[in-house]
Amino acid sequence: MPDVPLDQLVARLANFPQLGQSVSLTQLQAFLSLISRLLPAIRSDPVNAGLTLPSHLTLPVPVVDFLATSLQLPTSIVILCWAGFGDWAGEPTTSINEDELLGSLGTHFGIAGDTLEPPSHCTTDTCNNAPLTKRQEYQATLFTLRRGVLPITVVSLYCHHCQSTYHHDYKVRHASQAHAQREYYGGVPERIMVSMHHVIERELVVLWEAQMVFSGASAEAASRIYNTALRTRTAETEEKLLPTTVWDSFFLHALLRDATKREITLCVPHNATNADRMNTALEMRNMWMVGTGQDLWAHACTGCQKIIGNKRLSACVTDRVTVGHVCCGVADCQIPLANQSAWFCPAHSKLQFICAVAGCEHRSGIGWRTCDNPTHRAFEEQRRTKGKAMFVLRARQARNAGQAEPRPPTSDMDYLDEVPEEEDQDPPTAPTPSNDLVKIRGRLSRRWTHNEQLIVRCCGIILSRATFFGSEAITSVKDFIHVTFPVQYPGSLPSYIFFDNNCLLLRHLLASVHPRDSRLSAVGFPVDVFHASRKHKDSDEFCTMNCSPVTFPEIMDGDAWVFNSSAAEQANKWFRQFQPIVKEMPILRYNFFLDEMISLRNEWRVNRIRVEGKGPHLIPLADLETRLS
Ligand SMILES: [Zn+2]
Ligand SMILES: [Zn+2]
Ligand SMILES: [Zn+2]
Ligand SMILES: [Zn+2]
Ligand SMILES: [Zn+2]
Repeated sequence: MPDVPLDQLVARLANFPQLGQSVSLTQLQAFLSLISRLLPAIRSDPVNAGLTLPSHLTLPVPVVDFLATSLQLPTSIVILCWAGFGDWAGEPTTSINEDELLGSLGTHFGIAGDTLEPPSHCTTDTCNNAPLTKRQEYQATLFTLRRGVLPITVVSLYCHHCQSTYHHDYKVRHASQAHAQREYYGGVPERIMVSMHHVIERELVVLWEAQMVFSGASAEAASRIYNTALRTRTAETEEKLLPTTVWDSFFLHALLRDATKREITLCVPHNATNADRMNTALEMRNMWMVGTGQDLWAHACTGCQKIIGNKRLSACVTDRVTVGHVCCGVADCQIPLANQSAWFCPAHSKLQFICAVAGCEHRSGIGWRTCDNPTHRAFEEQRRTKGKAMFVLRARQARNAGQAEPRPPTSDMDYLDEVPEEEDQDPPTAPTPSNDLVKIRGRLSRRWTHNEQLIVRCCGIILSRATFFGSEAITSVKDFIHVTFPVQYPGSLPSYIFFDNNCLLLRHLLASVHPRDSRLSAVGFPVDVFHASRKHKDSDEFCTMNCSPVTFPEIMDGDAWVFNSSAAEQANKWFRQFQPIVKEMPILRYNFFLDEMISLRNEWRVNRIRVEGKGPHLIPLADLETRLS
């Protein structure tokens, strides 16, 4: 609105009394800002050829109609408005940014522009909707998507009957007791209390999810993007968003969404640190996700299921991708570590005090991974030197690429993790008596899980994920197939599973005497045309007879499969970007984050499949209880 004294406005209205009766202040305000925006279009209309001054211009008919429709005014009133105020079009306008004032001056006066209120009545069954009392208030920070960082007042109320404290998102019964639980109300609130002093807008978390899923942004990157581009003020005093707040928001928001979807109540311990509070809830969701937990697990569409002849044929691909987390140093041990810097799980923790050189059973020195045998110590020193050199190289590469430089390790021992894993392998044989440094073997760095395995429908929907601790063993792939297509849903078992090592898998299945494996005889295990040259030194007769494309003419169209057998490769390419983000994550967060990324990508993917006209749908579980044909 033009910044004019109010008496000028009154004088104008006195000349056009009909306007005062027909137009509200909001409509007038909108009219004035719209005509300023539309002034170039009004001037360039042929009806105003050669005229420039707003008072000489006529409103073109389309503009009149647009204003009448958008402001819900009769066209005659719009024309009258133009007669009364048209000369104000293009006047410099001023506006007051309330958020800006509240954010800067408000804090100075102890005033917050927004309040986060809890419910007003108790929801406990036995309390008969009792009104809540004992209002308490404190100041916190609200991070928003469009309005920047704002001060906010957070209110809590109390029920004397059931001794519950009510907050905006949850209530806590007997809050001072050690085992008190936060019970969330259900649904995902528009503003989420991530910690006592940090409240995050839901739509901001949705933006972070999108940054993570589509560009592999870490919480560190998301917080930098926010602090650089989305905070509206740049005052140094204003609170900055921290990566830990981004992570806590991400996990809490996903848990709330998951609980809402599954119609369960999210409960987390009240008296815990933010780092541990969600652990049990994350673990329960991770367990739910194993095998069949993805929302689109029962998905089908014409990209992954085809009617050929009188048969309904479906296909999946499975492949490995190099993403992993730190795990116990004992091969194939799946017991979680007590903390991220541990070398061994609690069950094998004694090994951390034993020299890491293969076969040596002496105690390791304090701050060392090896005993004080000079040869063993020299072996470790050599690795540390190499690790330091690798670190310097990595830091330089990051600097040259304009990326965030890695933080130097806090202790010299951590440089051992920099040595490429293939050089730090498990001892293959018994101890080497030789003093020759080169022949000494031993795992000095922490161990990482071997790979993630995905099962992907040929249309690109990812059905399930598993962590393989050891190498991509054929038995692990087989177990993963059993878990993803469980025996109680025989109809879920695809007609074909593409896998690079299918000939080995099939050999294993044919030799197996386990009754569970016999049901996989209904599945075809094809390999692609290039498989033989990659996997066999010579052409393998078993492979040619059982797995090569000629064995499956029903799903060949000329030289190509009717299914997209490289769907897993494409999914893996996307999935691989998460390695630097999840590498150091505790196992619960690692699994949860990756499953969540898959869910979000599936959601996006299925919308594309719908647009492509492939009719995506979920097969009812009852139909999957029998084998499809
Ligand atoms: Zn109550
Ligand atoms: Zn599909
Ligand atoms: Zn272990
Ligand atoms: Zn030793
Ligand atoms: Zn083969």
